[in-house]
Amino acid sequence: MIFDVHSHTWQYPDHFTDQFQEQARHARGGKELDLTVHYEEYRSTAPEDTRTVVFGGKARLSGLWVDDQFVADYVQQHPDTLVGFLSLDPTQPGWEEELRQGHQELGLKGIKLMPMYAGFRPDGQDLDPMWQYAQDNDLPVLLHTGTTFVAQAPLECTLPRHLDPVATRFPGVKIILAHLSHPYENECVVVIRKHPNVYADISAIHYRPFQLYHSLMLVQEYGVWNKLLFGTDYPFTNIEASIEGLFGLNKMLEGTALPRLDEEQIHKVIYRDTASILGL
Ligand SMILES: [Zn+2]
Repeated sequence: MIFDVHSHTWQYPDHFTDQFQEQARHARGGKELDLTVHYEEYRSTAPEDTRTVVFGGKARLSGLWVDDQFVADYVQQHPDTLVGFLSLDPTQPGWEEELRQGHQELGLKGIKLMPMYAGFRPDGQDLDPMWQYAQDNDLPVLLHTGTTFVAQAPLECTLPRHLDPVATRFPGVKIILAHLSHPYENECVVVIRKHPNVYADISAIHYRPFQLYHSLMLVQEYGVWNKLLFGTDYPFTNIEASIEGLFGLNKMLEGTALPRLDEEQIHKVIYRDTASILGL
């Protein structure tokens, strides 16, 4: 069984500002980025028994806002395959209410944060009530870590090292650093190695294959393959392309003596029982 720990639902472009769309276009060399979500399209490259975590995203600073109700309604249409997470932007009033509502009333099972996009530090003391709530209620927290194309999103907020003190203060919270924190994979690897409760997802990084090869060699040499979780970041990419991307990495090395990635470990990442790890 495949468990995709990172996917989105939203109405594109309704949930985004014009500025976000404009900046997204620059990110792909001027090409129009179609971020429309179609459940059937997503499922078309997913094995039958695939289960998927889905969230929207909230980051006022960057021009993205998807209400948790929208996510809950989407999950309700496909309850056998989808697990919904709520989103929070703690720079905006009302986030504590949204946390309780998303969990207790909408039945969402985890929390998605976008510190860089929203412009906050995940280790700020003012966020401790959220971490405490997550710990008390067994809610995993998945954070965007790593860079973005959004100009006003501060790099300082995205560094994986900020989760180090959080993981120490809240050892009962399962924390997932998204995208292996690209291009800060070295920091990501040392944080997930230190803390039993911290993991990383490998979503949406296969289209930079040499960087991903290098990042997974770091993972291999530090011995933290067991801390990686499979994810796609749909609609940015899908399951088939993500798997092909992973198994394509060693093929780049043909004719060289460079060390190979352990393909048995890659296989284990793809088929990891993430639902049990995160208690979902
Ligand atoms: Zn994402």
